[in-house]
Amino acid sequence: MIPLVKTNIPDKEQLLPELERVLYSGYVAQGVEVDRFEHDFQSFIGKGYSLSVNSGTAALHIALILAGVESGDEVISTALTAEPTNVAIKMVGGKVRYADIDPATGNISPSSIEASINARTKAIMVVDYAGIPVNVPKIQEISKKYDIPVIHDAAHALGAKFNGKKTGVHFPYTIFSFQAIKHLTTIDGGMLQIHDKSAYEKAKLIRWFGIDKQKTRLENDIQFQGYKYHMNNVNATIGITQLRGIDTLLSTHIENGRYFDQALKDIPGCQLIEYYKGSEPSYWLYTLKVENRQKFIKMMEKNGIMASELHKRNDWHTFLNDFDSSLPNLDHFYNQLVHIPCGWWVGFEEREKIANTIKKGW
Ligand SMILES: *Cc1c(COP(=O)(O)O)cnc(C)c1O
Repeated sequence: MIPLVKTNIPDKEQLLPELERVLYSGYVAQGVEVDRFEHDFQSFIGKGYSLSVNSGTAALHIALILAGVESGDEVISTALTAEPTNVAIKMVGGKVRYADIDPATGNISPSSIEASINARTKAIMVVDYAGIPVNVPKIQEISKKYDIPVIHDAAHALGAKFNGKKTGVHFPYTIFSFQAIKHLTTIDGGMLQIHDKSAYEKAKLIRWFGIDKQKTRLENDIQFQGYKYHMNNVNATIGITQLRGIDTLLSTHIENGRYFDQALKDIPGCQLIEYYKGSEPSYWLYTLKVENRQKFIKMMEKNGIMASELHKRNDWHTFLNDFDSSLPNLDHFYNQLVHIPCGWWVGFEEREKIANTIKKGW
């Protein structure tokens, strides 16, 4: 079976000597390896400050605190995402106000964001779903017009671009996940990419109990709620090794994605996702819309290919459904949405097999 997602671990020869060194170095907590991973990641993104954490969810939590979201505040978000996006909003006591999606891309609709803004709106959460960039220029415009900060959940979008710039530079807060099945895994981990230096300094304190690691314990005076969200040297060592191969890994996802963009055109019952002009997806998964989805999934399974909608739309979770929003575009999109394998484990033969299987119909 060609799986939909797969964990990528670097070659033993590359990873194990480094891991062995750090494991027996006498220091496995947050230290120089973490600093180095952050430094390398910052160079990869090209702008802002990189704060490593122990999960993408922790990064979302810190971003929401930095954006000033407090109990009872509303955050405009999308229901077409993995649960952490919206569970994190609830972690700060926020209420999730769902905007509808753009039917062409599946991502949050800028006009629906604008229609959802009210006096209690504190932040806007946007997700590059499956690695497809959101409408960055329009969302930047709305953020500026209403002075509401944007948090970019880029857990699926490492290496995606808009107008030639990498995801991570467009909004004040961007989060990445290094969980087991993401483009880059540190087993578990995450990164919060921050534009502003003082927000970054505050984020460092929130990451570690509200304590400033540069000072002694006695010099410290905790002023606000912090958490234990730091990354350790072991996960960071895996991250450093992963980053060395990340461009190669990303290019296999992207080449496969572009192959499907061509090969799956004009197939009856199959509609491709559109991308905003100037955007370059990172193709964490390959997403398309099909008629008779259940039949499609069964047919693919019979042919040894895993296909799935993968996520449950988040407004179908009682706890994540604060306002009972009507989301007609999502209703339509979600019925047809399916993901097919597209990552580094899909070779030339496999991708041809996938395309030919779909062409035969279901
Ligand atoms: C994986 C994921 C996260 C959270 O990442 P963790 O590292 O698992 O906490 C957040 N948002 C989306 C869309 C994700 O897929």
